[in-house]
Amino acid sequence: MRRFEVNDDPEAYKQSFDHLFLHSGQEGIKAFEEMMESLTNELIDFHMQQTQPYSGKSPAEIERELKRLKPVSEQGESFSLYLKELEETVLSNSLHVTHTNAIGHLHCPPLLPTLAAELIIAMFNQSMDSWDQSPSASFVEEKMIQWLTQQFNLKAGSSGTFSSGGTQSNYIGLLLARDSYCEKKFNHNVQKKGLPPQSNKLKILCSKEAHFTVIKSASQLGLGEEAVVKVETDEDHRLSLQDLEEKFNQLRQNGEFPFALVATCGTTDFGSIDPLEDLAVFSKENELWYHVDAAFGGALILSDSHCDKLTGIERADSIAVDFHKLFYQPISCGAFLLKDENNFKYLNHHADYLNPKEDKEEGIPHLVNKTIATSRRFDALKLWTSLRVVGTKKFQEMIDHTFVIAKQSADLIDEMEDIEGANRYPELNTVLFRFNSKEGPIKELDEINKQIQQRLLYKGTAFVAKTKVNKEVYLKLTILNPRTSLSDVTGILQEIRRLGTEEIEYRRVTI
Ligand SMILES: *Cc1c(COP(=O)(O)O)cnc(C)c1O
Repeated sequence: MRRFEVNDDPEAYKQSFDHLFLHSGQEGIKAFEEMMESLTNELIDFHMQQTQPYSGKSPAEIERELKRLKPVSEQGESFSLYLKELEETVLSNSLHVTHTNAIGHLHCPPLLPTLAAELIIAMFNQSMDSWDQSPSASFVEEKMIQWLTQQFNLKAGSSGTFSSGGTQSNYIGLLLARDSYCEKKFNHNVQKKGLPPQSNKLKILCSKEAHFTVIKSASQLGLGEEAVVKVETDEDHRLSLQDLEEKFNQLRQNGEFPFALVATCGTTDFGSIDPLEDLAVFSKENELWYHVDAAFGGALILSDSHCDKLTGIERADSIAVDFHKLFYQPISCGAFLLKDENNFKYLNHHADYLNPKEDKEEGIPHLVNKTIATSRRFDALKLWTSLRVVGTKKFQEMIDHTFVIAKQSADLIDEMEDIEGANRYPELNTVLFRFNSKEGPIKELDEINKQIQQRLLYKGTAFVAKTKVNKEVYLKLTILNPRTSLSDVTGILQEIRRLGTEEIEYRRVTI
């Protein structure tokens, strides 16, 4: 059993905690200064030594190395000694997202001002659930949401909330869609009574290339994964309107209740954008809740040269947009935007200690009423900070530039005989391809491409992703980093060709 000793001198005892917090007293200020100084120095040293995106170590090697980490002790230890150890073990074995060759996933380098904002967010630790825990922050978040609804051209009466990302935003969208449909169609209150008897007939439509979180949401919403009906895509990986009509009519004929249509604005692999405007019309005609998953592609709203690709998004009932992708924010940072603020009522629950009913009448904003989380970070601050400091023009230039590099990379691939591109014209900034021999199709192509991706990762010189196109293994570049140049991409492609040739050679010898 633990023993708690209370010191004879309570004042001195209290003071022994002073250096652990930042406050107006000397002890706290001094400790903060020292901590920031050693942190800054260590991080500068670390970044100056960074030459590769990854150490190249295998999972087993990292696990073994981390076993040597010192355990938690009763007495604690010096921050700078601890930091040294952290750097040598954990940080040095991280994937360095700021490296120009780390271009695998939808995983962005965070902008510098957001790092400062993260510190401020943590330091003030505002909690966005009730106004009295975030008296000014609540208004900043609301202001940011307003800015976003304006960018997306949503009409007056729209609203939104910051979320942990696309997963949460898609879930909230489908939850509101389900509950508003059940109320209108069956006069049934899901919030109070749970799912209606017809629940196994409720259906969600989306393309077969929609994000897996649509299915995950359906399962978590008690509708089951089979509630999601997948619509075929066209040759550009966009939802096929013709198949949508067929699937929809079939559902109706079977006596089922399709209630939502999810459009994807930027699929994870091809970055393709469903025909947003046509789908808006279809949804309206057929009384479907229109949710646009713009987690990836939503950032095009900042680009004058590409924002027309989003036409139709302004008609959505709800939108998911992520800032920890093409808005260069640290994870996690996303938003859920809602056309009609009234629909947030399906998330509303009152707790006497937090958001009592009477506060609503007095106009006190409790943002807990707009989301599924309770305690929530002031993530709106990092988006605001970077928009203010960097300015929208630079954002636009960064996004546009990555599109140019992606397009040039696709052109380059087109000229290479032993690399086969999968998307001739990348819609966003992903480029899919695979190594294939000049002599024509080779056996074990999947295995060879898998090996190439792994060998690159375990060398640590470049991180590219691997995915499947029509069940075959492909490699993927996701060029989010505006500092990645065409020569970086050329270098990676040359290395891929070299590794691919080696893999073929190896098979020739061993077979
Ligand atoms: C990234 C992504 C998601 C998931 O979002 P998280 O922020 O990872 O929760 C959903 N949909 C699309 C299209 C995405 O790109």
